[in-house]
Amino acid sequence: MDTKAFKRSLHSSDLYYRKGFGRAAEVTQMLYSEYQSSLIQQIRENGYTLQHGDVTIKLAEAFGFCWGVERAIALAYETRQQFPTERIWITNEIIHNPLVNQNLQDMQVEFIPVNSQGEKDFSVVAKEDVVILPAFGASVQEMQLLNEKGCKIMDTTCPWVSKVWNSVEKHKKGNYTSIIHGKYKHEETIATSSFAEKYLVVLNLQQAEYVCNYILNGGNREEFLTKFAHAYSPGFDPDTDLVRVGIANQTTMLKGETEQIGKLFERTLMRKYGPQELNHHFLSFNTICDATQERQDAMFQLVEEKLDLMVVVGGFNSSNTTQLQTISRARAIPSYHIDSAERIGPLNRIEHKKLHSTLEVVENWLPPGPIVVGITSGASTPDKVVADVIEKIFDIKAAK
Ligand code: SF4
Repeated sequence: MDTKAFKRSLHSSDLYYRKGFGRAAEVTQMLYSEYQSSLIQQIRENGYTLQHGDVTIKLAEAFGFCWGVERAIALAYETRQQFPTERIWITNEIIHNPLVNQNLQDMQVEFIPVNSQGEKDFSVVAKEDVVILPAFGASVQEMQLLNEKGCKIMDTTCPWVSKVWNSVEKHKKGNYTSIIHGKYKHEETIATSSFAEKYLVVLNLQQAEYVCNYILNGGNREEFLTKFAHAYSPGFDPDTDLVRVGIANQTTMLKGETEQIGKLFERTLMRKYGPQELNHHFLSFNTICDATQERQDAMFQLVEEKLDLMVVVGGFNSSNTTQLQTISRARAIPSYHIDSAERIGPLNRIEHKKLHSTLEVVENWLPPGPIVVGITSGASTPDKVVADVIEKIFDIKAAK
């Protein structure tokens, strides 16, 4: 499939939109009242800290909505305004935030249903309908299917995600296998891998080390294929498809880890083929998203402060939020990942998601006396949700 040619023809279609409809002024007020918060604004203006009774809040200096997410939500709202009577579908959660997704559903923006096998059922989409593609994109196959249906498409894919797709297309053109640092089940990685001819998804440095060891020393092919089941392209063969590799990433992974993985592959191929042959065997472009990088850097800075505990706010299936929680846990600070203020209370109780685990209820999570609470939130979390969390903390401590 020539994905480049397909993209060109899709982008020139009258039924395909990537920009707003000149209704930004109309939706700005709605977005402000639904997602912004004067309390958060006040904390920002006060140097990212606020003291209230026994509680000192320290906010990360970069947190919450990134511009890619704000853009996607604004485009979805504009789409509803532009097509007030049409049925509007969205191929996935526009971003991983329950409040935003609920608001869209309240505006009659419906999710494409998923059947019992976990496959999306696009038969519900009619020619007259509008389909929104979310911030983390959609696969080439989904875009082709929608294009064939002749429906309108609003593509809110973040330009940073498109940048990764362009890298993967360059890998394909040069006959390189794309090594994607990501989660093979994540919608963004599914979309990214659909642009590749040959790919292998590695979750972390440990998996990358396994692959690099295989490149240098060989190994058990069956074991390799079992270990990476579902994480490679059809027909992938570790004995022949790891000779020329290009690096790509899910934009929300830990930036430091993506860099380490890139360097590890670079060193491995240099050792195997020699420095003069490196360009023939290894390709890498910088595709780490600025927003992810800034939020992770701000988190590293925040955990250096003297904190009694951390609260990380964001959807439980949000990859970038999980990365923030990983940083916090690595510093052994008691850290609670919640998706909304509803997880706090009644009384001094919290229900939070343990890292790579399930929900857990903790009683008396806020210690007595003066406390310093670090707070951050993922790129898909509205300020309003963070403000609700802070207010609940103030209320619990005030009642003690
Ligand atoms: S985190 Fe980065 S890639 Fe993802 S939507 Fe935001 S700006 Fe775009």
